[in-house]
Amino acid sequence: MSAAAFDMIAKLVGFATVSRDSNLELIEYISAYLAEHGVESRLVPNAGNSKANLFATVGPSVEGGVVLSGHTDVVPVDGQPWDSEPFTVTEKGERLYGRGTADMKSFYAIALALVPEMLERGLARPIHFALSYDEEVGCLGAPSMIERIAAELPAPRAVVVGEPTDMRIVTAHKSITGGETRVTGHEAHSSQPHRGVSAVMTAARLITFLEDMARENAAGPPSETSFETPYSTIHVGTVRGGTATNIISRECRFGWDMRCVPEDDPQTFLDRFDRYCREELLPAMQALAPEADIVTTVGSSVPGLRPEDDGEAEALVRLLTGDNGRGAVAYAAEAGQFQRAGFSTVLCGPGSIDQAHQPNEYIEKSQIHACIDFMHRLIDMQAS
Ligand SMILES: [Zn+2]
Repeated sequence: MSAAAFDMIAKLVGFATVSRDSNLELIEYISAYLAEHGVESRLVPNAGNSKANLFATVGPSVEGGVVLSGHTDVVPVDGQPWDSEPFTVTEKGERLYGRGTADMKSFYAIALALVPEMLERGLARPIHFALSYDEEVGCLGAPSMIERIAAELPAPRAVVVGEPTDMRIVTAHKSITGGETRVTGHEAHSSQPHRGVSAVMTAARLITFLEDMARENAAGPPSETSFETPYSTIHVGTVRGGTATNIISRECRFGWDMRCVPEDDPQTFLDRFDRYCREELLPAMQALAPEADIVTTVGSSVPGLRPEDDGEAEALVRLLTGDNGRGAVAYAAEAGQFQRAGFSTVLCGPGSIDQAHQPNEYIEKSQIHACIDFMHRLIDMQAS
């Protein structure tokens, strides 16, 4: 393994950039490192100026660049049984342990370590870096940076999002839509159900409605994309409601998420849910208690990545990796956001998603080597 790549991975993992905390120390480190090599960074801060995206161009400011995209944040380690200090890279045998080694600091650490080589070779077409914040909490950071990239950079030909795919090409990920539904009922003694509207029991009917849609999806024709779960899933993960078994509950809320295949628009499911509320449930509820209501709030929505016909990013990563597959992953990533903004996009990065978010997260050294080879071929391609 190249010492420079190892050092950069260790350096970046050393910044404890858990999503709830600032990522500015890491961003300042990278921007100072790039400045040392004469590369200017552009920062796109969040509203409170506590976090920032960074994008930068190595090579000439011309079209035909390749964007290497990654997120700077990592998931927490709270309560996880780690055998080593999570924010210090620990080398054991053929692995490097540390939070973010797989998901996903190694990808852009390796590319950053190769910046001197990119400059020495002299690129004919640029390699861009695009590093975001708040990916792990709903891909919240990237959109403002993608907007700036679209407005300010000469059109790149491809975006490679370096999520851990074992250096295989992934051309699809599901969309994610998450939110909360809040049911307001009307309190009464449990012995007098005709006087009350039970928020908990209404929520139960709504949850069953969601489950029925989920079953329908599972029984329907599978997606053309090769997801492990080849249909759109709908899941309710939290329910909170009621105060006592002898009180008809006034309030109940539940949190749900939908992970849709490219063929399905999550809005269709939301519309069906809304129609069920308005036509089947609310009239009777409000006849008894005018204040009764069902309010659904969509909290996060990340577009999916769909396989492109003759996609340039796919062709390019095929050349660079020799992988002829067309993988699909169930987790959401920023790739769909880039694609929606008009960029040809695939996922490809070192490490395995199986290790992501786990205690004792690690990356195999062989994956680091494979990523270094990938970057060398990319530099060759962009230099000629
Ligand atoms: Zn990730």
